[in-house]
Amino acid sequence: MATCFTESQLGDQLVIVGGMSVWSLCEHHMLPMNLHVTAGYVPDGGAVVGLSKFGRIAQHYAGRLQVQERFTRQVAEHLVDVIGRKDVAVAVRGLHLCMSMRGVRLEAARTTTLHTGGQFAIDPVLNQQFVTLAGAQWNAA
Ligand SMILES: [Zn+2]
Repeated sequence: MATCFTESQLGDQLVIVGGMSVWSLCEHHMLPMNLHVTAGYVPDGGAVVGLSKFGRIAQHYAGRLQVQERFTRQVAEHLVDVIGRKDVAVAVRGLHLCMSMRGVRLEAARTTTLHTGGQFAIDPVLNQQFVTLAGAQWNAA
């Protein structure tokens, strides 16, 4: 399991935690899926999530049969609990071996899921900042 963290901050508005890769198992096909996870949150007045804590949360939910959409939501909801604020966004880009190995063999296919809450859901500028930074991390990987 490769785990790598990067972090960048835009003033005190937005913290991005990402560059992390976890493996899980697709519950439909029992085949591995590789999930690249990026989280964003607004720490203003709330707790700051340590990088290792974030990694444990992602690995916790990856350590069971999953579908990518549920994994994304579970990580986001856990972060909301930890931070004590709803201003959390989680983006996941998944490589599913069930898509790469079986059937249509879409070897380059990636599935992206996005969960936004609080300010991320209502502030289009903040939302766009997060999506841009998450995408930049994936393109650099
Ligand atoms: Zn599958």
